[in-house]
Amino acid sequence: MANMTPRTKRNRRERVLATHGRVCWICGKPIGDDLTLDHVKAKSEGGSNGEENLRPAHWKCNFDRHH
Ligand SMILES: [Zn+2]
Repeated sequence: MANMTPRTKRNRRERVLATHGRVCWICGKPIGDDLTLDHVKAKSEGGSNGEENLRPAHWKCNFDRHH
């Protein structure tokens, strides 16, 4: 993931990854292809869709957290 063009820098997902690293904020392990962005504060609880409310997470960790 060393391809940092100006276009990807403006991408919200890329900015979240640049800020937090490609590490799951739930279990603390590196993330591979099963990366998703988790809402720290759920949208149903009034959480925003902004990058300040998003953290990288494994798809499964995200799923388990919300089920
Ligand atoms: Zn995880």
